[in-house]
Amino acid sequence: MEVDPLLSYARARQPEMVAQIRQFVECESPTDDASAVNRFVELVSDTVTPFAKVKTFPGGKFGRHLVCEVQLPGRKNSGQVMALGHADTVWPAGTLRTMPFRQADGRLWGPGVLDMKAGIAFFIFAVRALRELEIPVASKVLLQLNSDEEVGSPSSRALTEKNAARSQAVLVLEPGTGLEGKLKTARKGVGDFTIRVHGKASHAGVDFQAGASAVLELARQIERIAGFTQLKHGITVNPGVVAGGTRSNVVAAEASAEVDIRVGRLKDAPALEQKFRELKPYDPRCTIEVSGGLNRPPMERSAGIARLCRMAQKLARELQIKGYNSYIASEGGAGK
Ligand SMILES: [Zn+2]
Repeated sequence: MEVDPLLSYARARQPEMVAQIRQFVECESPTDDASAVNRFVELVSDTVTPFAKVKTFPGGKFGRHLVCEVQLPGRKNSGQVMALGHADTVWPAGTLRTMPFRQADGRLWGPGVLDMKAGIAFFIFAVRALRELEIPVASKVLLQLNSDEEVGSPSSRALTEKNAARSQAVLVLEPGTGLEGKLKTARKGVGDFTIRVHGKASHAGVDFQAGASAVLELARQIERIAGFTQLKHGITVNPGVVAGGTRSNVVAAEASAEVDIRVGRLKDAPALEQKFRELKPYDPRCTIEVSGGLNRPPMERSAGIARLCRMAQKLARELQIKGYNSYIASEGGAGK
């Protein structure tokens, strides 16, 4: 494919792109403010309406999710590709007052520039380039923007799963990582467990032996749980929060821990979850309650993902973009 006309198209429109990003950034859209997110979704919708069929879907207590099918030149005979992003940001309403949009030193600043309004603007200009340069595109192209990504996508997840399952490829519009613009081609799966220990309270002075310390039991369990980590298999287990007891002179009746788990391979999850469910108390007078599990499966670097990455690297070389290598991340979120 000839890339240069696209590059010159993009270069000539850089001021227009910056103006588009500015307009998006100045329409603040914190996740917890559904009407603000809806205003932003409406702005995107108005922007793409000249060249896309737009639908929105209710997001419950969050803003609406947007799905649009882009009208591109060429016969559509090669399945569907989805571009995925989110309309919400982590920045509270009013952040613009202290952190206004600005452009300096070859960079843009402002709430949500990076995560991820610039990505949405780039997609819109990519679509416009394909249309205006009349480059045929064989795949149907969808854009989906979720309104609740920053809080774990509770109301959009099903819609994403449905549209992704129908797509040959899903490209997340979040920017590449770091100044080298690295692409993410894998991500660990994430989950959490809560461990509750119930012991037996007693007075540490008067009645010490009558007590069964939930704090002591939990401390022993934490040692065991931490041992579930297997770094060479990409499995990590982090007991990150503990709580328990009431006073230092009381043998503790209750204690609990919150544990973060990450796996690089989906096939490792069941055995790890089983280990949690099989935890037995050291002190038979204590009982253990375990809840939780994996809530985000890993994105494993499949052959298809590797192929897409090589395609992106090849296009980047043709455009003389440096960096753009594959990169393995360990953080959660739809596209971070
Ligand atoms: Zn993001």
